[in-house]
Amino acid sequence: MSHSTSNASNFIRNIIIEDLKSGKHDTIVTRFPPEPNGYLHIGHAKSIVLNFELADEFNGKTNLRFDDTNPLKEDQEYVDAIKEDVKWLGYDWDGLFFASDYFEIMYEKAVLLIKKGLAYVDDLSADEIREYRGTLTEPGKESPYRNRSVEENLDLFERMRNGEFKNGEKVLRAKIDMSSPNINMRDPVIYRIAHATHHNTGDKWCIYPMYAFAHPLEDAIEGVTHSICTLEFEDQRPFYNWVIENCETESKPQQYEFARLNLTNTVMSKRKLKLLVDEGFVDGWDDPRMPTISGIRRKGYTPEAIRAFCRETGVSKSAGVVDTQMLEHFVREDLKLKAPRTMGVIKPLKVVITNYPEGQVEMLDAEINPENPEMGIRKIPFSREIYIEQDDFMENPPKKYFRLFPGNEVRLKHAYFIKCEEVIKDEEGNVIELRCTYDPETKSGTGFTGRKVKGTIHWVEATNALPAEFRLFEPLILDDQEEAAEGEEKSFLDQVNPNSLEIAQGFVEPNMKDAKPHDKFQFFRHGYFNVDPKLTTKDKLVFNRIVSLKSSFKL
Ligand code: ATP
Ligand code: MG
Repeated sequence: MSHSTSNASNFIRNIIIEDLKSGKHDTIVTRFPPEPNGYLHIGHAKSIVLNFELADEFNGKTNLRFDDTNPLKEDQEYVDAIKEDVKWLGYDWDGLFFASDYFEIMYEKAVLLIKKGLAYVDDLSADEIREYRGTLTEPGKESPYRNRSVEENLDLFERMRNGEFKNGEKVLRAKIDMSSPNINMRDPVIYRIAHATHHNTGDKWCIYPMYAFAHPLEDAIEGVTHSICTLEFEDQRPFYNWVIENCETESKPQQYEFARLNLTNTVMSKRKLKLLVDEGFVDGWDDPRMPTISGIRRKGYTPEAIRAFCRETGVSKSAGVVDTQMLEHFVREDLKLKAPRTMGVIKPLKVVITNYPEGQVEMLDAEINPENPEMGIRKIPFSREIYIEQDDFMENPPKKYFRLFPGNEVRLKHAYFIKCEEVIKDEEGNVIELRCTYDPETKSGTGFTGRKVKGTIHWVEATNALPAEFRLFEPLILDDQEEAAEGEEKSFLDQVNPNSLEIAQGFVEPNMKDAKPHDKFQFFRHGYFNVDPKLTTKDKLVFNRIVSLKSSFKL
C-alpha cells in the first residue's frame, strides 16, 4: 500500500509523531469500528483511509472491528458487505474482531464497577431517566435507586443477565455525578436489557452494553493506542477516560476526534440510507446513485480515486461541506490515463450517406487513448449507414450552432466530413433520418487541409453497432431546499430528486463486444462509463455514467 502523498493537514498524524518521539508508544494500533447496521458510505471511506494509512505509515497495525453491541439493528449481511468494501478500497486488516466476542469481559468490568461502588441497577423507566437527567442549564436529579448496596446491585445485575426481567425494566448505570456540566457524565446507562437474538452470540445474552461503555473497553482489549472518531463524540471523551480509568484496563487507549466528511447533495448516515432503500427510492444499497461504497463502486468510481480524495480532504477539527465535484475531479484524474476511448450514441438518429458505396464497410483507425498513446489503436467500421446523436442535429439552429443542420458540414470523429442534404420525418413531423453526403478527400489522418469545419461529432456504424443501455444520473438529494430541522426524517425524504435517473437505449462500437462488468470507458463527449455488473446481459451492455467530462472544479 502506498503511503499518503497528500500535503493536506492532518493533526492526528502530528500527535502520533509526537507520541512515538516521546516514547509514549513504541508502536501504534488504530481500528476501524463500524456498526454492522448498514452498508459503508463515502464518509466511512474517509475514516478507513485515515486509520489504515496512519498505521501503515508508522509500521503500526489496524484492526477491523465490528461494533456489534445492538442486536436489534445488526445483521450478517452488513458484516459481509463491510468486509468486502474495506478490501475493495485496498486495505488489509491486521485483526478482525467483533465487540460481541468481548461481552464476557465487559460483563466482568461492569461487575468490577459495581463492586467499587461505581455502578448501580436502576428501576427508573427510560422516560424517567431522561427527566431526571436535567438540562444544559439545570443539574440532574439522583435516582431513588442510586444508593442500593453493592450486594443488592450484584444480585440484581446477575438476575438481569439471567433473564429475570423484561426489556426496559432495569438498567445498569455508572455512578458519577448528576450535576456534572457534561450531561454524558450524569450517571450514563451502561447496560440495558434486550431480549433479542444477536447475529453473533445468538440467544446467549439478554443484556447488552451501551456503546459509550463498550467502545473504550473494545479499544483497550485490542491495545488500540489512537482511537479516532468523529467530532460528535468529543463530549463523550470524559466518560471514555472514566471507563478506562475505573475499569483498570491494562492498556490505555486515547480518543481523538476529527470533523466528519460531509458532501454536497449527499446524505451520509446509514439510518437515512437504509430509509432510501426500504422506502424504494433506490434499487438497493448498491444503487449507483447511493453514496455507499457499493453504490459508487457500481457506478464506476475507483478505489484509487476515493483514496486520493480522502487524503486530500485532510483531517481537521472544523466541520465543513466538501463539494461533490472534488470527488468527481479525482475520479476523472484516475480514469484519464486508464480508460480506453470509444464512441457511443445515447439517443440515436439514423444517417444515410447517399454517396457512399452500398455494401461497403471500411475499417478506420482510432487511438485508444490520445493521453496514453501506449494503449495503441482500435479499428472502427464505417459504412453508408451510421447513427449520430439526436442532439447533434437541429433543423432550425440558433446562431453559433456548429453541428449538423440542413446544408451544413461537420467532421465525423475519426472519419469524414459529411453534409446534411435532406431531413426525413414521420407523419407527426419528428425527424427520423438524415440523408447526407460525404467527401472522400476529408478522411481523418490524411492531412486534408482543403477547408475547415467547426463541429466534430461522434457516431457509430449502424449495421455493426451493438445495442446498449445508458444510465445517466443526477444527484439523488437536492440541496437547494430548506435545511432539515427537528423531525428531519420527513424533510430529508422531501429532498429526494425525482429525476435522478435517466435511462436511454443507444448503440456502441462493435469492438465493445468483449467488455466485461466494471470495465471503464471514456465515451467521446459523454464522459466516463462503467459496465454495470448486475444489469448487463449477453445481449445488452448496460453502462452507468461515472462522471461527465466537464468540470469547473479546481483543486
Ligand atoms: P452512520 O451514522 O452513517 O451510521 P456512524 O458513525 O454511526 O455513521 P459507524 O459504523 O459507527 O457509523 O462508523 C464507523 C466509523 O466511521 C466511526 O469511527 C465513524 O466515526 C466513522 N465515520 C462515519 N461517518 C463518517 C463521516 N461522514 N466522516 C468520517 N468518518 C465517519
Ligand atoms: Mg452509528
